[in-house]
Amino acid sequence: MITLKLGSRGEEVKVLQQKLSITADGIFGKNTDAAVRCFQKEHGLTVDGIVGLHTWELLGFPQDSRVIDEIIIHCSATREGKAYSSDSINAAHKARKFSSYINMQGRVCHIGYHYLIHPDGTIEACRPESKIGCHASGHNARSIGICYIGGLDALDTNGTMIKDTRTPQQKASLIKLIKDIKSRYRTIKRVIGHRDTSPDLNGNGVIEPYEFIKGCPCFDAIPEYKDL
Ligand SMILES: [Zn+2]
Repeated sequence: MITLKLGSRGEEVKVLQQKLSITADGIFGKNTDAAVRCFQKEHGLTVDGIVGLHTWELLGFPQDSRVIDEIIIHCSATREGKAYSSDSINAAHKARKFSSYINMQGRVCHIGYHYLIHPDGTIEACRPESKIGCHASGHNARSIGICYIGGLDALDTNGTMIKDTRTPQQKASLIKLIKDIKSRYRTIKRVIGHRDTSPDLNGNGVIEPYEFIKGCPCFDAIPEYKDL
């Protein structure tokens, strides 16, 4: 976490204010300074109004915690009806030299996503949310990545027949998981698909289909999840 003090602004200040149970306006003013000093005094810290490593830790943020403001949806780009195990994804991501970590089952893992959603709706936790993922270039530091298994037509032979293959169980699990994550991070601003991270070539503020760098996740995530 970054160091905050009088005059700081932004999402991190909001997180701090929420932790201190004061108005979360994102502006580190006199009230926030007083609340920080009070917290520091109560916890035996140096009372300087500066939120550094020790103050963050006692506020409940271990060293590698991060601000999360996006959820990014992916597909595995595998054919409809085909199972794709976490072992297979792990092998693929290991081959691409994705960093290793201890997964939620306590095993060494390389999967770039935080969650997988299998065709039967099973949600499989992979990378701990506190760890930066490896799934959307330029967006990893501040996002959580969810991948549903599927995204290609059953007849696809070369990865071009993209299709929204989500089963009813996957759709239900996506909603459940997104709601759960949003309830735990009040900093989340939007839920998007991987393709929505494409560059806005004409600068009109909307990522249009011709601008998509890829089809993933093969459906329009923004309108579907904006009200969750
Ligand atoms: Zn993707």
